[in-house]
Amino acid sequence: MGTVTLDVVNHYINGQHFKGENDRFGYVYNPSTGQKIATVPYATAEEVDETVNLAKQAAKKWGKTSVGKRIQVLFKFRQLLVEHTEELARLIGKENGKTISDAKGEISRGIESVDLAIGAPHIIKGEHSVNVGGEINAYSMNQPLGVVTCIAPFNFPVMIPLAMSTMAVAVGNAMILKPSEKVPYSALFLSKLWEEAGLPNGVWNVVNGDKDTVDAIITHKDVKAISFVGSSKVAKIIYETGTKHHKRVAAYGGGKNHMVIMPDADIDKVVDSFVGAAYGSAGQRCMSISVAMPVGQKTAALFTEKLKSKVEALKAGAYDDESADFGALISEDAKQATLRAIDEAVKEGAHIVVDGRNPKVENKAGFYLDATLLDHVTPDMKMYKEEVFGPARIIVPVESLDESISLINDHQLGNGVTIFTNNGGDARKFTQEIEVGMTGVNVPVPIPVGYHNFGGWKDSRFGEGQMFGPDTARFFTKTKTVSERWFDREDTTNETNFDFPSS
Ligand code: NAD
Repeated sequence: MGTVTLDVVNHYINGQHFKGENDRFGYVYNPSTGQKIATVPYATAEEVDETVNLAKQAAKKWGKTSVGKRIQVLFKFRQLLVEHTEELARLIGKENGKTISDAKGEISRGIESVDLAIGAPHIIKGEHSVNVGGEINAYSMNQPLGVVTCIAPFNFPVMIPLAMSTMAVAVGNAMILKPSEKVPYSALFLSKLWEEAGLPNGVWNVVNGDKDTVDAIITHKDVKAISFVGSSKVAKIIYETGTKHHKRVAAYGGGKNHMVIMPDADIDKVVDSFVGAAYGSAGQRCMSISVAMPVGQKTAALFTEKLKSKVEALKAGAYDDESADFGALISEDAKQATLRAIDEAVKEGAHIVVDGRNPKVENKAGFYLDATLLDHVTPDMKMYKEEVFGPARIIVPVESLDESISLINDHQLGNGVTIFTNNGGDARKFTQEIEVGMTGVNVPVPIPVGYHNFGGWKDSRFGEGQMFGPDTARFFTKTKTVSERWFDREDTTNETNFDFPSS
C-alpha cells in the first residue's frame, strides 16, 4: 500500500496563506471514514504576535473606512456565501461529519448574522443632544476596539464563526479567528470569500492552533475583546484569564437542555420534535435537547412508548448519505466519551430503552454511534448533571410543573429549555420562572433568530458580552461621549470658573 500524503492546512494572515514554522501540529479527520485528511499547524506565540501587529495596522484603516464602504463588502460577502452554499456544506460535512442538509441549515443561520451585521450602522449610531449647556451640544459615538478575537468550537464550523465575527468586522475591527483545530477548512473557505468580497488584507485572519495558541492570543496586550464558544470548562478558563488581562470577554459554554412535556401536550408532535432536536447533528449541538421531562407517570409512559420506535428507526451515516438522519461524531475520543457516559449511567441504575452502542452503519472505521435512549435516570446521576455531546438522551419524569421548574433551575447549565403544552397559563408561568437564557414554548430548539440576542445563563455563559444579536455591536465597540461647544459670534465673555460645570 502506498503512503498517503496528507494535506497541510494553512493559516491566513494579512491576506497571505502561510504554513507556519512550528513543529507542533494536529490532525484533521474525515469523521465519516475515520481517515486522517490533513495536518494543522499550531501557531506559536511569535506568530500570534506578528498577526496581531499586522491586524492592528489593518484595523486603524478599516475603522476609518466609511460605514457605507464597509457594508458594501458585507453585502458582497453575503452574496458569495449564498452562491457557495453547496460547496461549503460539503466541506463542513467532510471535516465535521454532519449531513449536508444539516450543514446547509447552519450556513443559512450563519447568513442571518451577516444580515444583522449589514444593519450595523443603524445599531451603532450614537445619540445627540442639542444645547445641553450654553452653546454646547453633546453626542456619543461607538468606535471600534481595534483587534479582537473569536475562539470557535468544532460543532458549527461556519455558523458560529460568522455569528461571532461578522458584526465585529462590520463595526470596524480587525478579527483574529482561531477555529477549532478539528475543522480548520471551513474557516479558511470563509477567508477566500472575504477576500473576494474586497475586505482589505489584515482585517480578517485565521490562526490555527491549540491551547498554547489561544493563550498567546487572549493575553496579547493589543487584543481588546475575546468572543469564545466551546465547553463550559474552557469557557470559564477563558473568562478568568481574559478578564485578568483586562479584556472584554463573552465566553459561551455547554448546555443540558430540557424539554418539559405537560400532560395536555400533543404527544405525537412532542415525539417528532424531540427526535430531531435531540439526535440531530448526532447530539453535537449546544442547543440539543438532551433531557425529556414528562410531567406525570401517564405522560411518561405514553411518551416513552411512542418515542422508542422512532429512535430505533434513526439512521447514522456518512455526511453525503442522503438517507442518514445524522452523521458521525467528530472524533474517536468523542465517541468513547459518549459510550463511557452511557456505561456509567447504566452502572448507576439507568435503564436502556434503545441501545445505539453498536451502530448499524457499514463503515465501522467512521466515528459512528446510533441513537441511545435511557430512562430511570435520576437528577443525582452524572448523566443528568453533565453535558453529553453525542447521541445519548435521557428521560427524567417529574410529578408537576413546579418540580420541573425547580429541577431545571437547580441545574448548573442554563443554555436552552422548552415546554410543550396547550395551556397558556402554564406556559407563561414557565417562561417567567425558568432560569435559562433561551426558552421555548412548543418549539423543539429555542435558538433565537439573528436579530435577537443569544446566550445561556449560569455555567452556559461567563460574562455579559454577546456573540450574536444586536448587543454584539455594543460588545465590539466602545462609547465615547463628546461635549462640543461652538461660540456664538456675539459671545464676547471671557471668564475663568472654578466651579464644577453645571448646566
Ligand atoms: P472546546 O472547549 O473543546 O474547544 C473550543 C475552542 O477552545 C477550540 O478552538 C479549542 O482549540 C480551544 N480550547 C480547547 N481547550 C482549551 C484550553 N484549555 N485553553 C484554551 N483554549 C482551548 O469545545 P468543542 O469540543 O470544540 O465544542 C463543543 C462545546 O462547545 C460543547 O460543550 C458545546 O455545548 C459548546 N458550544 C456552545 C455553544 C453556545 O452557544 N453556548 C455553541 C456551540 C458549541
